Amino acid sequence: MADSFEEVSVLKAYCVKCKESKEMEDAQKVTMKNGRPAMKGKCPTCGTGMYRILKKGS
Ligand SMILES: [Zn+2]
Repeated sequence: MADSFEEVSVLKAYCVKCKESKEMEDAQKVTMKNGRPAMKGKCPTCGTGMYRILKKGS
């Protein structure tokens, strides 16, 4: 399988509702108001929206 691709497609974030880390569903890259890149998705269990701020690259 494609190892490098998995880094992007499988992203974990903390769900405040389930109180544990989950693999983000429907994750997509977004830019926040302050210009920082983040991943936006939802919890696969309860559907709560999740955000994960990405480290500034390059
Ligand atoms: Zn959840």
